[in-house]
Amino acid sequence: MTFRAFLVALAVTFLPLAPAARSQAAVDLSKSQMPSVISVPPEAQPSDHFDVEAATNAYLAQIPASARTRSDAYFEGGYWLILWDFLVAIVIYWILLRFGVSAKMRDVALHLSRFAFIQDLVYWVQFLIFIAILSTPLTIYEDYFREHKYGLATQTFGPWLGDQVKMLLVNMILGGILVAVLFRIARRLPRTWHIWGAVVTTVFLAFGVMIAPVFIFPLFNKITRLDDPKVTQPILSMARANGIPAHDVFQIDASRQSTRMSANVSGFGNTMRITLNDNLLRRGSPEEIECVMGHEMGHYVLHHIYKDILFLFVVTVAFFAYLRWGLEWSLARWGPSWRINGIGDVAVLPLVFYLATLFFFVLTPILNTETRTNEHEADMYGLNASRQPDGCAQGAIHLGEYRKMSPGPVEEFIFFDHPSGRQRIHRAMQWKAENLQLFLNQSAH
Ligand SMILES: [Zn+2]
Repeated sequence: MTFRAFLVALAVTFLPLAPAARSQAAVDLSKSQMPSVISVPPEAQPSDHFDVEAATNAYLAQIPASARTRSDAYFEGGYWLILWDFLVAIVIYWILLRFGVSAKMRDVALHLSRFAFIQDLVYWVQFLIFIAILSTPLTIYEDYFREHKYGLATQTFGPWLGDQVKMLLVNMILGGILVAVLFRIARRLPRTWHIWGAVVTTVFLAFGVMIAPVFIFPLFNKITRLDDPKVTQPILSMARANGIPAHDVFQIDASRQSTRMSANVSGFGNTMRITLNDNLLRRGSPEEIECVMGHEMGHYVLHHIYKDILFLFVVTVAFFAYLRWGLEWSLARWGPSWRINGIGDVAVLPLVFYLATLFFFVLTPILNTETRTNEHEADMYGLNASRQPDGCAQGAIHLGEYRKMSPGPVEEFIFFDHPSGRQRIHRAMQWKAENLQLFLNQSAH
């Protein structure tokens, strides 16, 4: 079966299910969304008896009980999905090894070409298609039906499937190049491959992060220059005040896929750009947009991309050291029965992914904490740059549509890659309490 035939078969199998998901989502969406307009509650108004706890609780009290229940259920369900994703991946890699599927795919690749680079690519394409097929039920549930059920998705099944195929193709090309390069290293440098592998992987990922906004994102969304000076003027003014060399503000049509609000600052030097998504523009108050932009500028000014890459490098070095040990240990035991001829044999790839899945599953809380720490720093920068604590509180509530508002401390440590909504509102109200004269003077004028 050709790949194209496979996709058509997939579409035919699942398309009839799609309309059911849509009508189900339409039923109670409005009741469970966070309120679009969030006013400043009396407890959060500037006064000489301003109380941080009371102001925080008053903001939280604006969330309807149905919206909170739904958001908690969505986010807590995500904990289980981490486990299910992990288990399904482990089983798929094990099947590939145990039943000689990987060795067969390698034989096909060897048969088709004399060149190692092409052989590795051919293997990689087969590997991705096999995984795509076996993980399809979970992917469709997780990314399509579940997102619709919670009112977070806007796409019908056809365009959704189209995006999945595009992602698969990007993965085939970019992933294929990385895989072929890494195997070349493993074959040429059998003693030190894990060191060079870590370096090449980090450089490759850093490169990917930098080109993605220009070359990858436009494959999925339309990015246009924003021409409304009412929106762009305050943002560009804030950028200038913070030493950010941005001349334009861009808009991305994220509503094509979801209802989530977000924004980002990407690139560097002349490619530096500020992008807001249309959900934020449509639903956010001007104060809220300013807070979000201040937050994004914080990421830029505090060099979070470079810090992330450095952190990634440390993790990757540790991973490759573990990988070398894990591969040698496993191949000594099972290599012959899986028909894998050592680390330079591309058929070893499912074992690499098996070990990687274990490693990154265990590392989940550490990776989340690194990201959450940066996000917290960006929050504080955003408060200082925008001076919009109430806009920040409104934003925290809107983001609560897909993130639990008030988790326990251990829960937040393990699962949260951003501070929880409650934390964010509390810090915003703390900031307001420490800068009350700013708002008291304002109301006196
Ligand atoms: Zn952020």
